Amino acid sequence: MSLEHIKVIVFDLDGTLYEDTHHFDFYAERLKFRLSADKQHLFSKDYLSCKEHRHPLKTGRVYDAEEGLILVHMDGVVREAYRWNGEQISREKASEIYNEPINYDFKRFFSIGDPWWIPASIARHYGLSSERIYEAFLETRKFMLGPDFKMKKIPGLAEAIKAVRKKTDIVLYTNSSEEDSEGILTKLGLDGLFSLKIFNGKKPAKTVEWFTYIRDYFQVSFEEIMSVGDNWVNEIRPVKPLGCITAYIDAYDTGETAYTDFAVPTMRELLPVFKLISES
Ligand SMILES: [Mg+2]
Repeated sequence: MSLEHIKVIVFDLDGTLYEDTHHFDFYAERLKFRLSADKQHLFSKDYLSCKEHRHPLKTGRVYDAEEGLILVHMDGVVREAYRWNGEQISREKASEIYNEPINYDFKRFFSIGDPWWIPASIARHYGLSSERIYEAFLETRKFMLGPDFKMKKIPGLAEAIKAVRKKTDIVLYTNSSEEDSEGILTKLGLDGLFSLKIFNGKKPAKTVEWFTYIRDYFQVSFEEIMSVGDNWVNEIRPVKPLGCITAYIDAYDTGETAYTDFAVPTMRELLPVFKLISES
């Protein structure tokens, strides 16, 4: 694949420009604290079992809060469904319940595109409302922006972006708010590197709309845009059919390599690709 035609690189923020994960434990604690006392130990047990990959709730799947089922799907078409205890329900029963493609509304269907949605789905399973889940998320964000949360910079990333931005425009496209994103970029020493920043980006619903905006903003074609992210549903699946080059950081080993030009376990493995682009 030739890379010299790439003119714009679009980066996701969380899980892409940093790899820290210890805030998920903080988030899980804040969620647990909001559950009734009789549910708290069940929450902890399930969260631990997810962390040890013993639970059917996994990155890449969808949690159906109404049916209490965990779904394996492709583009919303349900292929397998599991009960909370890991038992698979029959294909007949699954196709009876899901006779048309599901869409992720984050009310009934929680797309577990990245690890934020694991503790959130467990909390939902034990009855916590979306509003209360959001409160716990805001507390976690506040913690992340505070002095006690030390973020590890990805070695070589800032240098690689600085080198590649001589050849391409660099865009941030995130579902996070401006305040949270700017705070995190400052902590990472990545502020000031982006030609354009899009916050509250409503991925995946608005991914195509925003990529069209980016294409028009920089007067390029989709083929000249590269999308980099750790959420296959948000950053890879919607833009590949447009013609974009895609780089998927599959930190949780979802194995979703369809539509991906590059699949790597960590951002570090992508740095040589940016080097190639900057030297092309
Ligand atoms: Mg992400």
